[in-house]
Amino acid sequence: MEENYIRVGIFWAIPNREEGGWDFRMLQKSYPASAAEQLANPVGFIDYPYSHYDAWDDARHETEPEDCYFYPRGRILYDVKRKMHRIFADTCLSVSDLEDLMDFYDIEDMEVCRDEHYVSAYTNSPRPTARPKLSYHILRGKEKIGENLIEISYGETKILVELGKALDGGEELSDLEKTVLETKYDAVVVSHYHADHAGLIDKKQDCPVYIGAGARRILEAMSKFRGETLPQNIAAYRDGRSFRIGKIRVTPYLCDHSAFDSYMLLFEAGGKSILYTGDFRFHGRKTSDVLFARLPKRVDVLISEGTNLGSEKPCFSERELEERAVELIKNADGPVFILQSASNIDRLVSFYRAAKRCGRIFYEDLYTALLASAAGGSIPRPDVFEDVFAFTPRPVRGNRKDLFFEFEHKRGIGAIAKGRPFVMPVRPSMLGFLQKLCRKIAPSGALLIYSMWSGYREKDDVKEFLEEAQSLGLKERTLHTSGHASADDLMRLHKRVGADEYVIVHTAR
Ligand SMILES: [Zn+2]
Ligand SMILES: [Zn+2]
Repeated sequence: MEENYIRVGIFWAIPNREEGGWDFRMLQKSYPASAAEQLANPVGFIDYPYSHYDAWDDARHETEPEDCYFYPRGRILYDVKRKMHRIFADTCLSVSDLEDLMDFYDIEDMEVCRDEHYVSAYTNSPRPTARPKLSYHILRGKEKIGENLIEISYGETKILVELGKALDGGEELSDLEKTVLETKYDAVVVSHYHADHAGLIDKKQDCPVYIGAGARRILEAMSKFRGETLPQNIAAYRDGRSFRIGKIRVTPYLCDHSAFDSYMLLFEAGGKSILYTGDFRFHGRKTSDVLFARLPKRVDVLISEGTNLGSEKPCFSERELEERAVELIKNADGPVFILQSASNIDRLVSFYRAAKRCGRIFYEDLYTALLASAAGGSIPRPDVFEDVFAFTPRPVRGNRKDLFFEFEHKRGIGAIAKGRPFVMPVRPSMLGFLQKLCRKIAPSGALLIYSMWSGYREKDDVKEFLEEAQSLGLKERTLHTSGHASADDLMRLHKRVGADEYVIVHTAR
């Protein structure tokens, strides 16, 4: 039969700041139960042979106080008459704290007794709580291109990063989207205005929602075009200017992407940092140099987009694209149309510059003109640029008419047909206009430059637009460079910030 053991000892409870509660520092001696009678002292107890005072120097860690009475302490004895262990401990240690101790000492029976002599620095304080940790939770966006929803929290503070909308979800909200919209956050921080990051932005109105100041102007212009106003709770952050949400410090870093005013976001609290890249690239007009000089030397966690991992998408620079555009436009015999996203402001700049270099004027439909005007600065837009004109692809009424008439540089379809050679960005919704215009001009020699991700060719409206353009006699060429970082550039960023933890989101892999 297995021999039973009696365990006696002394212990200290050291506060655990990471997880809350206590860590026990224990000293013990065990005796065979059969020897209990002989070992008992005159009052019938088996006791540990050393006092806390005598044992502390051996038990303590170097950084801990020398005073053996600083931490809560206690003693385990064996009551020979009652055949059970008894524990005497500081009153601040709860029964469940002491039950943990039973496991450590491997004893099954124990009576807890309070001993008011055991006074420590903690006797009258609450149980130690865990020091909060900066943490993240990716709700959606892994193994998916976009639709990002990420939570970042520290103690009581909880931030939602991005308000991406499922692109194939239509108007219907998914269960996760509904949950996120109902969850109480201290604030939402959005990296840029693309729908897979900001598609739900006007549906979250119960807390502040932050986006870059320029991106906010673009959202405002989009709302205006729809005859709506941007919700009041959408606020702006600015490049490099840190702001606080509860206990978390947020710093936005302007980066290059196919959306105007896109940011990487740094979250800091409790000495830890998380850098979230949003969508970015280093081959746009903004290079990595400026950003690399500003980013922190090191972060603990890097949550990076990975759109181009394992793909061979073209990643040449926006300047190179401009050069190639000049070649195409120079050799075109008629008007040049660009099939591109209206909100890709950098692309607008590239084609405007190419048009100008080829002596052509530039047309922007009302929507594009509003977005370009909202971007401001050196972005080509009617009125400010001599050679940029606004037009409407279809008759406008009400609010849109008012918006259109605010532009002084504007032209109707007749004037466009009879006017100087031009370059004009178009979208699939402008097919009717394209047909009408082609009836007024001889479209032979006209060129359509496809300047979007090749995957959009599969969309019904894009397919129809391309087919119809071909039957109208437009020659089609592709000229596009990715709005996302190449695999090499993803690696360069990781190397630059040296994160211990590297998480990839926004990827098909
Ligand atoms: Zn995205
Ligand atoms: Zn994007």
